[in-house]
Amino acid sequence: MQVDRFYINGEWVKPLSEATFPLANPATEALIASIPMANRDDVDRAVSAAKQAFDSYSQTSVAQRIGWFTNLLHIYRQRSAEITDAMIREMGCARSFTEDLQTPCGDGHIEAMLEVLANFEFEHLSPRGGSTIIHEPVGVSALITPWNWPINQVVAKVLPSLASGCPCILKPSEESALSALLFAQMIHDAGFPAGAFNMLNGDGAVAGNHLSSHPDVDLVSFTGSTRAGKLVQANGIDTVKRVVLELGGKSPNIIFADADLPTAVQFSAEACFSNAGQTCDAPTRVLVERSAYEQVKKGLIEATRNTRVGDPMQAGEHIGPVVNKRQFDLIQGMIEQGINEGAELLAGGVGRPDGLDQGYYIQPTLFAVEHTMGINTDEIFGPVLCMTVFDTEEEAIRLANDTVYGLGAYIQTADLDKARRVAKRIRAGNVSVNGAAYDYDVPFGGMKQSGNGRENGLYGLHDFLDIKAITL
Ligand code: NAD
Repeated sequence: MQVDRFYINGEWVKPLSEATFPLANPATEALIASIPMANRDDVDRAVSAAKQAFDSYSQTSVAQRIGWFTNLLHIYRQRSAEITDAMIREMGCARSFTEDLQTPCGDGHIEAMLEVLANFEFEHLSPRGGSTIIHEPVGVSALITPWNWPINQVVAKVLPSLASGCPCILKPSEESALSALLFAQMIHDAGFPAGAFNMLNGDGAVAGNHLSSHPDVDLVSFTGSTRAGKLVQANGIDTVKRVVLELGGKSPNIIFADADLPTAVQFSAEACFSNAGQTCDAPTRVLVERSAYEQVKKGLIEATRNTRVGDPMQAGEHIGPVVNKRQFDLIQGMIEQGINEGAELLAGGVGRPDGLDQGYYIQPTLFAVEHTMGINTDEIFGPVLCMTVFDTEEEAIRLANDTVYGLGAYIQTADLDKARRVAKRIRAGNVSVNGAAYDYDVPFGGMKQSGNGRENGLYGLHDFLDIKAITL
């Protein structure tokens, strides 16, 4: 792995910048790599390579792209254990969760994109047959990703960019640089043409900011916090860039009294605490129908106390630490805030779990809250679950929608007609009923301040395509 290099124009090149970022293993707090941080000149160099590649790469045939994607699928599968190890070391994700859910996102999405490439009509007649409609690449794309689902976020952007014919510059989170470097090597080995894919590491303030305002970048696809997403959107104004945003969330999980309560409770705790609570669409607000409230409360207290925390290198059902000291401090601060604003602490609390004195480990924490409390309205991005009560279906919908976010939503009920009815009224991009998991071809994205893009498969491809009509 070329940790001290950027991948530009088909080669591993020495950065122009001398700045570095100390990447630490969150389980041990030990330094594991010194990651070069791109300056504006490095960004210009990567953008220039992508721009030069546009004319030729955008004209490559679908059959050629299918060939490169097929190579990538084989290489990814061969090296998946290395990807797993990189993600465990850089962001502390627990081994079994990484192996079972994080790593398979890579080949799962490559396979889904191969199906899209085989079937998508890049060129077809207009509805009345008088014109030819062409779906063509938007241009040079800048792809900015977070660290919490490192490979998932990277493939959700790189695959549609390369499938559509857009040369790209990937800037992964500096916190998850290792898995991204490994993925860049895979793209190289798969044979994609020089300049089609470029990657540099860097921070948001310099590299992210310059990329998202660069005059030669036509499209920015950004996943991260709503705070940074707003800045990225503003950066695109001058050059009227296409800006695709996948942002934060505070997703509601409605438990109706008719649900299979033990299963609903188990799902609610696991889905919130897995990945140490660092999932954008995690169900972090549980809304419980009054007649089931006490039973669910008892169940959630038990499930929260039973959620084990431990060494992410070991296999098992436990969760690992959070990504870094900054997140650790922020989450501790939010737990303190919850206590100070009068929320009822039902399990967990401030401080590390017993027996873990080193590493950014957080106690899984459960609060009973008032709907308007800060811990129930603000994204925490850690293993902290809030529960509230509701009386009617109408009130559940109102409380679920009373948020600036609109990413995920969850419904637990035995009545599937009610589930459909409620799901249709929830302002969120994805609604899961009774713990159902999404397939790789399902669109993923948010409404309101959770963003405007849709990733994955066919829907992800659309974000990278312009429509042209040719009339003879
Ligand atoms: P972040 O916003 O701090 O950083 C995300 C990426 O943006 C990083 O690569 C970072 O370097 C870059 N960045 C930061 N400031 C920037 C700026 N001003 N201009 C350009 N780039 C900038 O977020 P994070 O802490 O890495 O990730 C956690 C956040 O991501 C959470 O809010 C989470 O909900 C969100 N997220 C959303 C989705 C989704 O699909 N909607 C998926 C995963 C994570």
